[in-house]
Amino acid sequence: MPGMTLTEVGAAFDEGALTARELTEKCLTVARQNADTTHAYVTLTEDEAFTAADAADERIKRRSRLSILDGVPVAVKDNMLVAGIRATAGSHIITNYVAPYDATIVSRLKAAGAVLVGKTNMDEFAMGSSTETSCHGPTRNPWNTEKIPGGSSGGAAVAVAEGSAIVSLGSDTGGSIRQPAAMCGVVGLKPTYGRVSRYGLMAMASSLDQIGPFARTAEDAARVLSVIEGRDPMDSTSVDLEPSWKVPLRFPSSLKGLRVGLPKEYFVSGMDSDVERAVRDAVAALENLGAEIKEVTLPHAEYALAVYYVLMPSEVSSNLSRFDGIRFGTRVAGASLEETYRKSRGTGFGKEVRRRIMLGTYALSSGYYDAYYLKALKVRRLISNDFAQAFTEVDVIATPTSPSVAWNIGEKFDDPLAMYLSDIYTVSVNVAGLPAVSVPCGFSNGLPVGLQLIGRHFDEKTILGTAHAYEHAAGLREQLSSPTSIK
Ligand code: GLN
Repeated sequence: MPGMTLTEVGAAFDEGALTARELTEKCLTVARQNADTTHAYVTLTEDEAFTAADAADERIKRRSRLSILDGVPVAVKDNMLVAGIRATAGSHIITNYVAPYDATIVSRLKAAGAVLVGKTNMDEFAMGSSTETSCHGPTRNPWNTEKIPGGSSGGAAVAVAEGSAIVSLGSDTGGSIRQPAAMCGVVGLKPTYGRVSRYGLMAMASSLDQIGPFARTAEDAARVLSVIEGRDPMDSTSVDLEPSWKVPLRFPSSLKGLRVGLPKEYFVSGMDSDVERAVRDAVAALENLGAEIKEVTLPHAEYALAVYYVLMPSEVSSNLSRFDGIRFGTRVAGASLEETYRKSRGTGFGKEVRRRIMLGTYALSSGYYDAYYLKALKVRRLISNDFAQAFTEVDVIATPTSPSVAWNIGEKFDDPLAMYLSDIYTVSVNVAGLPAVSVPCGFSNGLPVGLQLIGRHFDEKTILGTAHAYEHAAGLREQLSSPTSIK
């Protein structure tokens, strides 16, 4: 049962071959069995899940399902609020925080009948690329438990890969949905900035953060997006647009007329040769489907990491100031107010979070603001312009999601620069606010490789349609359905 798509689940519900309770029980069993190996979850919400599943089963019996997600087990990253459930964001400073309200995406999932099975593990406050900085300990890759699952939404990616949830939600500030999706062999979509409400998502870097789905197929990702997207009065950056998909969804089987760009700056040294081969094969498959392949140029691509690693920590330093042991966060009292701040933040935050707060505070301080923060904002504009120019020539840009497959646990943990470099292909998408999807495109040494497809603002439809056509042509479903190193 785990490993089913939304369509398959829906058909099984309709035929009476499966109930929401049975599916929920099965997913929770996988989660429990793998708790010590993959460790995808921080909190399992079993009681709430069974209550929701039973209510869904009543509707299934009456043939009045609320949506494609009705009765479907869904996992949510631990930086999104579910009323009455602990939300830790992987940080010691808020291990006892219980969310007082539902994030908008959570209330939309609930209204659609989804069954929330649990909160998934993540890098502390979503800072990282390996899910190793969590205060709950690392999550492991189901394809090889010696390897990282990617990050920061590693738990949410693993949940779908191992089958403890049918779909899940992560957040992506610089690649945290796409990169773990690539490393775990599932589909991960980072929607356009503004497509999905961020209300109830603990902010990392507000101008870059976006919530999106993990799923087995592009079609499932599209279906989840259609449930969570849309204007929300509680998030002024969410936009009021036509939904990205009309129901029933229609996907192309041919890519005739589609122009796919390969940025010449991306296919240079630094990429694993197996990753390059898998991505080039995938691009050839797109061509076979009728797409026209063109080289494009993104002249400022080389500055994307630098821009991201100035802007992101600047926003982090501001957003995380609320965790001071007084307004939010566990208090470690000192003799003075300043000492209380110092002790609470010094003991509550992990090393990587503290590093970024320091970097950001520095970049924003007077005397350095112009040289770093303001300069980075200017280059941000140039990076956006590069994409806008490229999208006058092509409809989709194809790149690897990550320069390598999953690495060993611990390998880059003490080398932050090596860790940051692994984000090279994903960060510019957030810097420019664009949508992008990672779709599995093969294996290297038994570990999955991801193809990234980047689209125009609010054109999720084209990238997901391309991903869908590719999935069918590539025929990897069977191979991807059962990660090798777990039960
Ligand atoms: N790996 C990137 C970072 O550490 C992206 C994180 C994210 O998207 N949340 O900043």
